[in-house]
Amino acid sequence: MRVVLLGPPGSGKGTQAEKLGNRLNLFHISTGDIIREAVNKRTSVGEQIKDFLNRGELVPDSVVLKLLMGIIKKNEEFILDGFPRNLQQAKQLDAVLGEENKELDLVINLKIDEGAILHRLNGRLTCSQCGKVYHIDNLPSGKRCELCGASLYQRKDDNIDIIKRRINVYKESIFPLIEYYRKKGILHYIQGEMSPEKVFRGIMTLIEKRKNEVMEETWLRKN
Ligand code: AMP
Repeated sequence: MRVVLLGPPGSGKGTQAEKLGNRLNLFHISTGDIIREAVNKRTSVGEQIKDFLNRGELVPDSVVLKLLMGIIKKNEEFILDGFPRNLQQAKQLDAVLGEENKELDLVINLKIDEGAILHRLNGRLTCSQCGKVYHIDNLPSGKRCELCGASLYQRKDDNIDIIKRRINVYKESIFPLIEYYRKKGILHYIQGEMSPEKVFRGIMTLIEKRKNEVMEETWLRKN
């Protein structure tokens, strides 16, 4: 399966992509994580793009594509979280997949309203070691990560002004992208405000259905 998770910042893409990756043995690709790693390691690319990240703006397509395309080519199946973010990126992704006669199987858009995004992101704390995400309203005891015991930190771009900027950036680029996938017939919606478990079950149902369709299509092509 090749799956894309769409949705505004704070819709739960990262949490769901990680769970799905583990459950379905799909490679989880998060462009946000790849970009943060380049910035934290102060690579030359990281130095070029850190200001975009800190302002909550999209990193130029050419840079994201360079960071990502090798990883896409290396992995037969994957779940993408945070990419594509605009129509240009979606077309580039299709072009790269098309070179190897591959295509996306499913695009899932997690819907959530602006108030919920602000609440989630403004209170979000992330583990400094393993990246597990927490909310200030529901911290583990000792305020350290319950999985690895490391300290928690607030992402630099999880402050209210930058969150608002990120939401606007999302709104500016999402509609052509949605339209593109809708026309391809692979776009589905899930209500992202439900509990993470319910969202996960909803996504799994869509994936299982699509898997069966793909198997059927493959069988029909061969027979
Ligand atoms: P995220 O972790 O997905 O919220 O992404 C954090 C930040 O990384 C975004 O605000 C952008 O600055 C950058 N970023 C992540 N994915 C992309 C992308 N596909 N295109 C451009 N910039 C991106």
